[in-house]
Amino acid sequence: MDAFYLKYRPRAIRELDNRRVRRELEQILQQAELPHAFLFVGPKGIGKTSTARILAKVLACPHRRGLEPCNKCSVCRASDQGTNLDIIEIDAASNRGIDDIRRLREQVGLAPLQSANKIYIIDEVHMLTNEAFNAILKTLEEPPEHVYFIFCTTNPEKIPETVLSRLTTIRFQRASEEEIERALGRAIKGEHLKIGQKARHLLATAADGSFRDAHKLLYQLYLSEGKRITFAAAKKHLGRWLTILPREFLRLILTGEIEKALAVTRELEEKQVDFEDYLRRCLQAGQQLLFWRLGVEKPPLEAEINWLAEQTPERLAHLLADLTQALRQEKEVNIPALPLQLLVSGWATGPAENGGVAKEAAAPSVSTVPEAPKSETKVREAVRESEIKGSDAAKLAAVQEKWPAVMAAVKPMNHSVVALLKACRPIKVEGHKITLGVFYPFHRDRLAEERNRRIVETGLAKALGGRWQIACILTPKEDNKKEPPGGGGDDLYAAAKEIFG
Ligand SMILES: [Zn+2]
Repeated sequence: MDAFYLKYRPRAIRELDNRRVRRELEQILQQAELPHAFLFVGPKGIGKTSTARILAKVLACPHRRGLEPCNKCSVCRASDQGTNLDIIEIDAASNRGIDDIRRLREQVGLAPLQSANKIYIIDEVHMLTNEAFNAILKTLEEPPEHVYFIFCTTNPEKIPETVLSRLTTIRFQRASEEEIERALGRAIKGEHLKIGQKARHLLATAADGSFRDAHKLLYQLYLSEGKRITFAAAKKHLGRWLTILPREFLRLILTGEIEKALAVTRELEEKQVDFEDYLRRCLQAGQQLLFWRLGVEKPPLEAEINWLAEQTPERLAHLLADLTQALRQEKEVNIPALPLQLLVSGWATGPAENGGVAKEAAAPSVSTVPEAPKSETKVREAVRESEIKGSDAAKLAAVQEKWPAVMAAVKPMNHSVVALLKACRPIKVEGHKITLGVFYPFHRDRLAEERNRRIVETGLAKALGGRWQIACILTPKEDNKKEPPGGGGDDLYAAAKEIFG
C-alpha cells in the first residue's frame, strides 16, 4: 500500500512538501557551522524519517553544492538506495537500542568509509533506555567532527532534559491540504494518472495531514480504478474513511447529528484509534473551521462547507474550548473514548455554557420555553427520558432536592455565580421554567444579567438534564421572614459580603 509513498517521496531538500520544515532546513544548511544533533518532532506519517534520510544524504555527499547533494556521485546513489554504510539507522522502538548504542559508542570515533560524514538516524528516540541516553549524551557533549545525529520522535517530553538541551529541534506539523496536493502531484504525474482537481481536493482532505495516508488512498484508488480516477469514484471509495475525519466529525456535532457523531466515536473505539491524537486533530480541524468562518483563510472547496455559514464564531470557539477540556480529561480517565463521548452528549442537550446558537440568544427567553431544534435526535430524547418529569409540584421538589448538584455544576464555570445561587432557592416550576426566589435585589439583578443567567441555565441542564430557563423574583429568606427585602445600603453590604466573603 505504500508503493506510491516510497516511490515518490521527496529526494532533495527543495522537494520537501512541508514548507516550514523545508525553510528551516534551508536556513540551517546555509550556516557555516552546522549543528551536530537534530531532533525532528511530530506525529506519525508526516515525513520525519524521509526528511531525516534526505538531510543525511546532504550531509553524506562529499560534493555537496550549497543546500543539495550532488545527486551524481556513488555516495549519493548509495544513500538513495539505502545502502550507504555511513548512514546508520537505529530504531529505538525495536530493542530499546541497547546493542545499537553500544556499537555506536564503539564506532562513532571511526572515520566515515566513503561519505563526507557519518550520520546516525535514531527513530522513536524517546524509547531509548536511560543507559542508552547516558551513553549518547557523552558523544553529544563532544561530537567528533564528522559525526551527525538526527533523532526522530513523537514524544519529545520523554527525552531527558540534558539530552534535549543539546539538540536543534525542528517541529513537523500535519500537512496542509495544499502541501498534500503538491506531494500527490509527483505520483500523479509519474504514473500518468488522470484525476481531476475536485478528486484531488477530496483526497487531500481525506488524508487529514498525512502524506503517507494520502499516497495510500491514491494507490488504493489506482488499484481499483486504473489510471482514470473520477470524482464520483473517489467519493465512493473514500466515503467510509471521510466520515471519521475530524472535520466531518465536528460538522456532525455542530449541525446536531449527535447520533451519528456518537456512532463515529464507537467506530474510532473499535479501530483502537489513539483518542488523544484524535482530539488534537479535532482541535486543529476546529481551528481551521474557525479561521474559515471568520474569513481569515479561504476554504479550498466552499461547497463542502456550506453548513459552516450557519455557525456563529462563538459556537465554534465554544466547541474548541470543550475539545481542549476533553483533551485534558483524556489523561485522567482509563476509558479513552469517554471524554469525547461526554462532549458529544453534552452538545445533545442543547447549548452548554454560552454555547447557544445566535438565534436563541436573540430570543426573549426568560418567559418562553425554547423549541427544540429541528435536528433533535433519539439521543436527545434519551436524555429527556432521564429528565425530571411529572407534575410541576413534583418537578419543584426534585429541583430543590438536586439544588446542590446544580451549584456543583455551576462552580467550575463561575465562582461568583455560585455565591449568587446560595442567596436564592427554587420556589416554582412551570414546564421548563424555574422561578428562583432571591433574597436581595442586588443578587436578583446580577442573576438576571444575561451572562449569569446563561451560566445558571447551563448548570441546570447539566445537573437536571434537558433545557431550563430561569426567572428571578424577590422573596424573603425563610429564616428571616420579617426582614423586609428592601434595597438599602445594609442590603447591598450583606450581598457583597455574601459574594466576596
Ligand atoms: Zn553526491
